[in-house]
Amino acid sequence: MKKDVNIMGAGIIGLSIAYFLSKRSFSSLLIERNEGVALESSFGNGGGLWPTLLETNTLIDLGEASLQLFDMLAYHDKLNFEYRRNGVMEIALNYEELKLLEQDYERKKANFYVELLSPKEALDLEPNLSKEVKGSLYHVRGAHGNCYLLAKEFEGRILDSGSEIRLREKVVGLSKEGNKIKKVLTEKGEDEADWFINSCGAWSKELAEKVRFNLPVKPAKGIMITFEKTNKLLNSGIVSSKIGIVQTLKGNLRAGGT
Ligand SMILES: Cc1cc2nc3c(=O)[nH]c(=O)nc-3n(C[C@H](O)[C@H](O)[C@H](O)COP(=O)(O)OP(=O)(O)OC[C@H]3O[C@@H](n4cnc5c(N)ncnc54)[C@H](O)[C@@H]3O)c2cc1C
Repeated sequence: MKKDVNIMGAGIIGLSIAYFLSKRSFSSLLIERNEGVALESSFGNGGGLWPTLLETNTLIDLGEASLQLFDMLAYHDKLNFEYRRNGVMEIALNYEELKLLEQDYERKKANFYVELLSPKEALDLEPNLSKEVKGSLYHVRGAHGNCYLLAKEFEGRILDSGSEIRLREKVVGLSKEGNKIKKVLTEKGEDEADWFINSCGAWSKELAEKVRFNLPVKPAKGIMITFEKTNKLLNSGIVSSKIGIVQTLKGNLRAGGT
């Protein structure tokens, strides 16, 4: 049956759009080429929700607004994705790095919740840090969640609402009439809708080119390593000039380059 909105790509973005549409009684059809939802970057990421690490006030404000949405998803909508506001510590391991953190603190302290910590204060909060730590910029309002779990929660709620998710189906083209997209063409057939959303992540540009639209999306590569479960070693997220590391609620450490 024809749905109101056709969403191409079922990563965290496509799923969250479908979820919020379903709350407003719009039906969606999500089309995903993989055998499950959120198996690309929405699977392998760090789950760090750290707006005050960003450079510009506009981006930080946007990130803060996202954090309020995450609060709503966790505490009001009761989606279970290991969400918690546990902060993130940027650490300096030499005096050059410390100077950069001090400058960042001066830039942000008036508008955002950041604290400059001495080595002792940093170690009091995170006793497993290297004793070489020279200081830390603590981003008090940072949060952490599991992106894949959130995607699976969205998937359940979307299906319950009567929307549809079609897996193992690749979008191969779009059909237009005048300036308006009318149909999505897949390897298996075609679908009409009133609105179309391109949420194909790193592949969005490729899809937009099918209707000669230049979407300025530039994918970047990133790698995370997930380690086996261990005792609780960290309270907050930790970011240095070289790596970022978090510990999930189940005890897995996840690390990646910064
Ligand atoms: C290593 C790493 C660490 C990261 N850490 C963080 C972090 O700590 N915090 C944070 O906020 N962000 C982080 N990110 C970024 C975050 O993961 C991404 O911004 C987010 O997952 C993007 O979601 P998406 O839905 O746009 O893309 P994706 O998850 O890539 O979803 C796009 C979907 O579209 C599908 N698709 C593509 N082409 C087609 C087609 N033709 N037909 C049908 N389906 C198609 C794909 O199969 C995929 O499922 C990290 C990313 C990486 C790689």
